[in-house]
Amino acid sequence: MTDKATILIVDDAPSNIQILAAILKKTFHIKVATNGSDCLKIATTEPKPDLILLDVEMPDMNGYEVCERLMGDEKKPIPIIFVTGRNNDGDEEKGLNLGAVDYITKPISPAIVLARVKTHIELKQQRDAFEVMAMHDQLTGIYNRHYLIEAAQHKIARATRHKQPLSLLMLDIDHFKAVNDTYGHSKGDEVLQEVSQVLKTQNRTEDVVARFGGEEFIILLDQCDSDSAEQKSQYLRKTIEELNPSGIKITISIGIAQLNQTGDSFDDLLKRADLAVYQAKDQGRNCVVVG
Ligand code: GH3
Ligand code: MG
Ligand code: MG
Ligand code: MG
Repeated sequence: MTDKATILIVDDAPSNIQILAAILKKTFHIKVATNGSDCLKIATTEPKPDLILLDVEMPDMNGYEVCERLMGDEKKPIPIIFVTGRNNDGDEEKGLNLGAVDYITKPISPAIVLARVKTHIELKQQRDAFEVMAMHDQLTGIYNRHYLIEAAQHKIARATRHKQPLSLLMLDIDHFKAVNDTYGHSKGDEVLQEVSQVLKTQNRTEDVVARFGGEEFIILLDQCDSDSAEQKSQYLRKTIEELNPSGIKITISIGIAQLNQTGDSFDDLLKRADLAVYQAKDQGRNCVVVG
């Protein structure tokens, strides 16, 4: 396990909370709630707990209802283990069918509770790590094409709904094949890494900067029309021209496409930006074209 994970213990009886906390507090951070609504509050506030130990029988809102609410609201729900005095198959089945990862019956065995919690935390941390890996490009550490496509769909839908501007920049390193041919592939990799870092640090956190392919990058600019996108692009173009990554002078060509509020899709934007890059190459490279 890497960082200390956080366990949220939910039980209407403080003595039950104390027993579980005593077992887990050496290994984990502990948060507690004595009712369902406090549990929901803690579970939906950052930093969220990594796992919830949830009592079933509680006044007002019982554990099953809490579980249902948490499973329904979240795209990536927090793993829940029911800890309950109800020890029949029907209840266990109900809990698991609601999406709980495990079901522990009282009276509890400290060693078994600790072992099960550790297992589920490890699984969760592996899932989280895998998710981060799946969204990022291995060489450069910035977002990959897969993440870009997902994020673009959300951003385009939102911008269209609120009639807000959105621009897409496609950046392509000029004559990059020559960089590889002259300095070797691993120098080429270093160049890609340095350029990625600059693109990332030169943009707002809400802007998505992704490696789209070999030496091609895409930047999605929220609330940005094509005039601002052009200014931004000129700035990036100059910054890269002056960067000299690994001591190698490189330049980039940039194509811009602004979202039309008439049902433009990500593919439409891409096609226009791609065409604009093609024109920038045609005009002698190291330049910006608004498509
Ligand atoms: P242009 O100005 O027209 O864009 O020319 P270019 O040479 O940049 O374009 P081309 O598409 O011919 O070549 C792209 C090169 O990028 C070829 C490929 O070897 C290199 N490349 C793609 N991915 C990587 C990578 O991960 N690492 C390295 N070092 N090179 C890569
Ligand atoms: Mg209870
Ligand atoms: Mg290319
Ligand atoms: Mg290129």
